[in-house]
Amino acid sequence: MEERQICTNCGHIGYGIKKRAGITILEIVLWVTPIILFFFGISASNNADNLANEGMQNIYNWLATGIYNSSSSSDSLLVSYRQEARFLTITGIVLLVIALIYSIWRTVAGKLVCPECKKSSMIPLDSPMGEKLHQEFNDKK
Ligand SMILES: [Zn+2]
Repeated sequence: MEERQICTNCGHIGYGIKKRAGITILEIVLWVTPIILFFFGISASNNADNLANEGMQNIYNWLATGIYNSSSSSDSLLVSYRQEARFLTITGIVLLVIALIYSIWRTVAGKLVCPECKKSSMIPLDSPMGEKLHQEFNDKK
């Protein structure tokens, strides 16, 4: 059982509530961005696979028919799709790690705040200062 506390700011007696540190919207962006990057990474990877399959098909056709359907630009395009997919995936993984660290930090660095005035000014009620404040706030009522 958590000990009762008194707020040095507003005199509220009760239990502090945990308030997470940092910025919620930043945490959301950090989690959503890698998902978007992975999505585009998969798309680039599929494009590369399609080009590779197309290239193989051209070679099969060439062997079967003697007619080579040249698509000379596809090689450099294939390389760039592969590089794009790798870049997006690595960046996504790095961002995911940062997002995870940020989420853990938000929880660990969170503070107990007063449920009334939301300030981190709660002290134990049975401490000398707590008892003094309790008395003072009671006298005012
Ligand atoms: Zn308070």
